[in-house]
Amino acid sequence: MSVTGTVRVACPACGREQAAQLVQSINTRTDPAAKAKLLAGELNVLACACGARPRLAATVLFHDPDADYTCQVVVGDDAAIEQAIALFQAAGVSGTRRVVPSVNALVEKVKLLDAGLADWAIEMTKVLLLATLEARDLDRVMLFDHVDRDAQRIHWVRFDAPEEPVAVASPLAAYDRLIARPNLVPAAAEARIDRAWAVAAVQAMIANVN
Ligand SMILES: [Zn+2]
Repeated sequence: MSVTGTVRVACPACGREQAAQLVQSINTRTDPAAKAKLLAGELNVLACACGARPRLAATVLFHDPDADYTCQVVVGDDAAIEQAIALFQAAGVSGTRRVVPSVNALVEKVKLLDAGLADWAIEMTKVLLLATLEARDLDRVMLFDHVDRDAQRIHWVRFDAPEEPVAVASPLAAYDRLIARPNLVPAAAEARIDRAWAVAAVQAMIANVN
């Protein structure tokens, strides 16, 4: 069962205070509907009468027992994220554990899980792709969208400006080359597989080749 609570929040657009439902835990086996809501971008969104649909900041624990996969959204700074990772380890959570800073990041992780792709190799693929851009902006937001295995292409959404998503595709082969190298697989305790992790991993990979 998913853990759901009710909070009173003020709409950031009109200021009207109201009750909102918050899902703080999703178990995919017992509550597939909550997962569907997450993927549709409708989880923990306040539907205000004024028309605004702000997303509510909340800690969300996603657990897929069939994939032995747990991912937690931690709202807060680096210290809050480090604390969440320490709690994960103390609780003895088995399988793959991840901590992410936003629901958007969780959605991407779940899409990758469903596509059967390893997030660490995907994050490294992004860094390699961004490094080939003329702007060479390694901080640019780029999100996995889907994989087309027939065409051997990975499809992404890249944000060249905050509100300007651009659909791009790249060869799946670049990902496959990374996945084929077992020495690149992050340690089990590595719960933060994000852009910063991938930049360091790509740098280490290049240093080892030279
Ligand atoms: Zn409102």
